[in-house]
Amino acid sequence: MKNYKIETKCVQGGYTPGNGEPRQIPIIQSTTFKYATGEDMGKLFDLEASGYFYSRLQNPTCDSVAAKICEMEGGSAAMLLSSGQAASFFAVFNIANAGDHVVSSASIYGGTYNLFAVTMKKMGIEFTFVNPDCTKEELDAAFRPNTKAVFGETIANPALTVLDIEKFADAAHRHGVPLIIDNTFATPVNCRPIEFGADIVTHSTTKYMDGHGAAVGGCIVDSGKFDWMANKEKFPGLCTPDESYHGITYAEKFGKEGAFIYKATAQLMRDFGSTQSPQSAFILNLGLESLHVRMERHCLNALKIAEFLESHPKIGWVNYPGLKSNKYYDLAQKYMKNGTTGVVSFGIKGGRAAAEKFMSELKICAIETHVADARSCCLHPASTTHRQMNEQELIDAGVPSDLVRLSVGLENYTDLIDDISNALSKI
Ligand SMILES: *Cc1c(COP(=O)(O)O)cnc(C)c1O
Repeated sequence: MKNYKIETKCVQGGYTPGNGEPRQIPIIQSTTFKYATGEDMGKLFDLEASGYFYSRLQNPTCDSVAAKICEMEGGSAAMLLSSGQAASFFAVFNIANAGDHVVSSASIYGGTYNLFAVTMKKMGIEFTFVNPDCTKEELDAAFRPNTKAVFGETIANPALTVLDIEKFADAAHRHGVPLIIDNTFATPVNCRPIEFGADIVTHSTTKYMDGHGAAVGGCIVDSGKFDWMANKEKFPGLCTPDESYHGITYAEKFGKEGAFIYKATAQLMRDFGSTQSPQSAFILNLGLESLHVRMERHCLNALKIAEFLESHPKIGWVNYPGLKSNKYYDLAQKYMKNGTTGVVSFGIKGGRAAAEKFMSELKICAIETHVADARSCCLHPASTTHRQMNEQELIDAGVPSDLVRLSVGLENYTDLIDDISNALSKI
């Protein structure tokens, strides 16, 4: 599959049936796997032979789907997880321990911010949050001797900032650490961060990859490019024997291409069990088969709506990285030539009250906290997810009280524009 285009990988990647085998990826709904001798199974436990023994660690359905996403991102190894949150946690915790430090873009998903700033802080890992638009010097200044990784989102949810991936990758590599990119909003159809220097890519597959609001899930892809052994002293977990796993040194045994995912599976998945069910993986794969077709339409619809909103007298501002007037247009063109994402945010003149009235008048676009679904949905953060904040706190968090976030679905865009136009006329 390596030499095929992204569309072909979406449809056929990850799974090639043999003669007479199922055309569709089979759902292996089994917790356990049978072996003839204890010795056969012992080899699996020692990671001497590859195979399956317990679905908390690995399952063939999940592995086929992970292999597809791996091909789509151009990586060397990948794993599925129970959610995007689990993927972000595993990606960082696989290389950062208590006493370590991570540099992260400040413009990230709220759930990830909470995971980093509150929960992982309790585990003894400190984060420095940097403005994604900072200079090279400002970025360098955020590093410490105990920094183990850099984290950012290709297109941030919900701020829609576009990350200068090369700037962040160069900084990470100057300091001997990997760059982890959450590529949820762009998907590998629109951006493949590994091509721009990212070392690890994460996803909430709950969003566009599934795309039908049907299954929560996550994924981690390793580029196989980061040389752990060259930075041995920073990454003892990968470069010295794991006494909890028969004294294996992951970076020696599995090399650059396999060490990260093997460790995350053998150690973190074993201990935390944040596994994706084979049933969910099957549903995710159905989404992946049409991802390239859907992303094109999500982006077309979003651009049409962003252009309509920009010209509407009742709209104060529009934020969509595909608009020529957008601050991130040039960066978006560099990293995402074919399109960005399907989420648009905008401010309604008249603030909070006007935004609430607008939302209540929409007929097609439902009020939901979800994004990246085939069905259009919208959210007014100030009256829902961020309702505990006052006006100033909302501004500081980048979600002013007039902000409406619209996740543009796959409906006909003229119907959507009519719906929006009608709701605006009621204000
Ligand atoms: C939703 C989301 C997550 C968290 O994913 P879940 O599957 O909800 O756990 C992480 N990152 C981004 C960018 C998201 O949009």
